[in-house]
Amino acid sequence: MNNYFDYAASTPISQHVLEAMKPWETDNFANASSAHQAGRASYQAIQQARELIADKIGALPSEIIFTSGASEANNLALKGLAFKHLDKKGHIITSSIEHKCILNTCAFLESIGFDVTYLDPDSQGRISAESVQEAVRKNTVLISIHHVNNELGTIQPIEAFGAIAFEHNILFHTDAAQSFCKCDIDVDDMDIDMLSLSGHKIYGPKGIGALYVRNARDSELVPLIHGGGQEAGLRGGTSPTPLIVGLAAAVEHYPTEPTPDEQNFLAAIKQFACERNGSAYVVPTTWSVTFTSDHEVKRFTSNYPWLISQGSACNALSNVASHVLTAIGMTEEVARRTYRISLPPYRINEK
Ligand SMILES: *Cc1c(COP(=O)(O)O)cnc(C)c1O
Repeated sequence: MNNYFDYAASTPISQHVLEAMKPWETDNFANASSAHQAGRASYQAIQQARELIADKIGALPSEIIFTSGASEANNLALKGLAFKHLDKKGHIITSSIEHKCILNTCAFLESIGFDVTYLDPDSQGRISAESVQEAVRKNTVLISIHHVNNELGTIQPIEAFGAIAFEHNILFHTDAAQSFCKCDIDVDDMDIDMLSLSGHKIYGPKGIGALYVRNARDSELVPLIHGGGQEAGLRGGTSPTPLIVGLAAAVEHYPTEPTPDEQNFLAAIKQFACERNGSAYVVPTTWSVTFTSDHEVKRFTSNYPWLISQGSACNALSNVASHVLTAIGMTEEVARRTYRISLPPYRINEK
């Protein structure tokens, strides 16, 4: 797929990942909870993967809870905590430009009695720390704001959100599906209590992700999937050894340099009258581009028949303007001239 420029929606798995997964699909398919030798080997492989992933964000291996992806991790963070507060309910602070899996989870929690504040970004797609500070209430139980936006590529000031949460003794969760491996993350330095990540955004397999939970074993989270005690009792189900090993291999071999796609894209986009959105604080591989006219859109799409999205992949199949684009002040008409072009991601050097 050499016309594929939708890497924010999903990436292919790398050769390293494929190779790492193979033996756990074939030679040793034992259940990691089995007491025999093959089971222990599978368990060891999972523990090694857990250590590597934990290390990447400055966490302990016991604080990594494997899930089916970032959607499930986000659901576990929000519902898992909310279910602990079912008696008195409480207040949650999030933003209006979260991924749909956060927004729809929040809508559900509102329907059962929780209060949710949805903070709006500025025209560049940034959520301000001041707005978070102002939204804090006595009964706020959670602040959940993503790290990098999936449509705009905007980097949010999560250390500032974490500091506010810490100061008020509120838990801070961040959806890091678009930043994990791309940006430096340290859960202690950034006062992060929970963090969601996904395999298929980092050249890992689809169907695997994780939730980092500070002191997972003593956490207050209520599991969404009760089962055989796997993942510190927070997520039941037989551990998918190949997927977990694949996720770790993706972290280990995450690229540090752009592919030639980036230069090709920069050369191509120059030929069109357009503007990049969220331009102040963005990752280099996610571009939200608004063309100045329908004519320019047509010229672009006919010259470059790329596989890209309008808004995000989740909005692409419906005909409504993306909630992110409307939140930064775009009209439907302007949103229709806006495309997300996302290049192969790599580790960015922020310092
Ligand atoms: C892709 C994505 C998700 C969903 O991740 P899955 O692993 O596909 O469930 C959640 N949040 C953000 C910001 C994403 O980009």
